[in-house]
Amino acid sequence: MTLIVKNKPSNLHHKLVKFQQDINGTYPNLTREIKDDLLKALLEEQGYICAYCMQKINQSNSSIEHIIGQSFIDENGYNLGEENQLNYENLLAVCEGKSCKGNNQHCDKSRAVYQDKVPKRRLFITPLENRIIQNIKYANNGFIFYDDFTEIKDIEEMSNHTELSEVENIKYDLQEVLNLNCEELKTKRGILLNALKRLTKNWTHKEKIEKELIRYQTKTSSQYEEMCQVAIYHLSKKLK
Ligand SMILES: [Zn+2]
Repeated sequence: MTLIVKNKPSNLHHKLVKFQQDINGTYPNLTREIKDDLLKALLEEQGYICAYCMQKINQSNSSIEHIIGQSFIDENGYNLGEENQLNYENLLAVCEGKSCKGNNQHCDKSRAVYQDKVPKRRLFITPLENRIIQNIKYANNGFIFYDDFTEIKDIEEMSNHTELSEVENIKYDLQEVLNLNCEELKTKRGILLNALKRLTKNWTHKEKIEKELIRYQTKTSSQYEEMCQVAIYHLSKKLK
């Protein structure tokens, strides 16, 4: 997961306002045209990588995800999901969630299955907050974790969200809800980390590392490198 800075294009803003005012439109009855425009804007914003797993995505293999689920009702009975269905700040572009073997889905596909079972739990992790992104870490084998390392078996037990801290709930989101440690994703991150280690092994000049870091922090032809935050994490650590 890497930081996403929200910036709704003004032409899209006008279209959405008109759609809501003219026909009292909601997300499920968005026209194909507006939906395509929305997805395109989100992809541009995110540099064509999935908001959760950071794999490359494009218009034909991605979809729109709602951070606050479309039918989420908060603890006071307020229909927060419906309220935010068309709120651009609540929307992300995500992958198809099928990079892992078998029935082992990830990203919003894994979340959807989970949400059906526990509809009252919100998502605690978000790519919109820098303080959260800065606390996501990667072990040498590509294992992703939040804050301090916790054994998977202990995270599995963190299911009662109402009794847990935010940190514990975020750990649970990464591991269980979004399933970001499925073997294939973990391996992909591990390969990048190893390649970077080999590449930078004899780099003694800070400038060289900084230059490589900037390459991963910057979009090239509107695109980020796949898994860019893994590289940003590793290279930033090297600079400390
Ligand atoms: Zn994904």
